[in-house]
Amino acid sequence: MVCIPFDGVSIPTKGYLLEVPSMPDIFDFHTHVYDRDFWFRGKGVLRAYAKDYFKSPVRLAVSLPLLARFESWMKPRELRPSSSSRLILFDLVGSFSSISPLGLKLHPPLQDVSACDPGLDETYGLAEREGCPVVVHFGYCSAGNLRFADPLSIIEVVDKFPGLTVVMAHMGTGRGNYWENAKRVARCCDGVYFETSWAPPGVVREAVELFGAERVVFGSDYPFRSVEEELDKVLSLGFSDEELYRILWRNADELLRGVIKRSSSLMVREK
Ligand SMILES: [Zn+2]
Repeated sequence: MVCIPFDGVSIPTKGYLLEVPSMPDIFDFHTHVYDRDFWFRGKGVLRAYAKDYFKSPVRLAVSLPLLARFESWMKPRELRPSSSSRLILFDLVGSFSSISPLGLKLHPPLQDVSACDPGLDETYGLAEREGCPVVVHFGYCSAGNLRFADPLSIIEVVDKFPGLTVVMAHMGTGRGNYWENAKRVARCCDGVYFETSWAPPGVVREAVELFGAERVVFGSDYPFRSVEEELDKVLSLGFSDEELYRILWRNADELLRGVIKRSSSLMVREK
């Protein structure tokens, strides 16, 4: 029997969200909440303010770096969103100055680097030692170098760093060979997790069937996707309460418990 906490957040009045009587707390592993306007190709000016974002049913969220313009990455820890007590701010692999990152994002196609480049070994070693997850984007990316988009490229990394936690953004895209290879990697290493944003519903279900709800974390990719729509997708798949609790809260909480503690001590020091 699982005790699902419910803190009375307002649930949007549409879709499957309404049909879940006891919604667990929600942890969103993939957002770009920055508290300032930014420009994104094909979308124009976007805003992803914490005060707007947290009107959704989400209690805690990871904010990831984003290549907003092709020449400059948005880095959450440099922007210091005002509501950072509810945001866990990840750094970009290859350009973080903190010796103690809370979590890292690697985008091989856009950073033009293979996930298995030996130049990243020091970073992987640090992430493994500090217990901070690395969110990696694989799969199709219209502006990136697709030579580095194959999830298989990280297989020797997880072999070399068995204690490393890798979270595949968008479930490694969840399509075609990218998805087949993402599954091959996940079979080799228990430290590989799948994040659900943009992934087809059937692929989310397949991941739970193959690897268990223990290996899947909810993500929205806000503001590029609606939190409610991504939540509805996961809620529509017929998972048990226990599986939903795992996907929507517990896995992320377990992966980030250590860094959340460090995050609060960092915030105290920053004041
Ligand atoms: Zn994203």
